[in-house]
Formats: sequence, structure tokens, C-alpha cells
Amino acid sequence: MRLIDRPEEVLLSPYLLISMRQLDAIQSILAKALRKARESNQGVRSLRIALGEIAEIDTASIQKKWDELSKGTPVERAPLHFRFIKAEVQCMACFEKYHPSDGKIHCPYCGSYGAKILSGEEFFLESIEFDDEQT
Ligand SMILES: [Zn+2]
Repeated sequence: MRLIDRPEEVLLSPYLLISMRQLDAIQSILAKALRKARESNQGVRSLRIALGEIAEIDTASIQKKWDELSKGTPVERAPLHFRFIKAEVQCMACFEKYHPSDGKIHCPYCGSYGAKILSGEEFFLESIEFDDEQT
């Protein structure tokens, strides 16, 4: 669980650079997809990725990195589908839960800044669709 206590922090802006953490996540998604493809002995038709709205990475950056990393692997041409997960935070002062609007952690109930993130930071491989024709 990550705490946000800087009111100036903008959460929903597009991120131009990929952090090491996000790069690690993409690499582990790729490793998992390749392992699953090998185990099933089928071609991968598509991948479904769960992505929280404040996961600090956008789909274009993920796709770009994915294209780079998956080049020459069996999942190279498999399209990525995203399932978006809405963000929810909990106020540290009044404990009400709310959706951070405009990327700001600012409680609409009591007006205080600072909240605990409950959801919205997800970034993981949710499922893989295989190419049945190849079996
Ligand atoms: Zn509050």
C-alpha cells in the first residue's frame, strides 16, 4: 500500500518515461506469456492486461515497450487488450472512500489531502487467449 501525501501530485497525466518498476512489470508479463505459450504449445492470439488508472503508465508506453521487448519471440504479434480498473482511495482523515478526480487526492467529504490508495495501481497479465487452430 502506497501513501500519497503530496497534494500537488498529479496522478492521471501521461507518463513519458517508464520507471524501472513498470519495466520490470512488462518484462515479467512477457516472461509469463512466453512460458504459458510454451506450456500450452499453442500460438498466442491475444493477451489481456489489467491496468489501473493510476498505474503510472499509459497503454501507448506499454505497447511501445512491448513491441521492443517481444520482437522475435512467439508472442511478438499478439495484440494487447487492456482492462481498465478505476482508482479508489480512502481519506486518511475521515476514512470516506472516493475516486480521485482530476488526479488529485483531495477528499470531497472533509476537504483534506492525503489518502490511502485502495485500487487503481494494478498492472499485470490477467489472461491469455490461445490460437486453437494450431493444436
Ligand atoms: Zn475526508
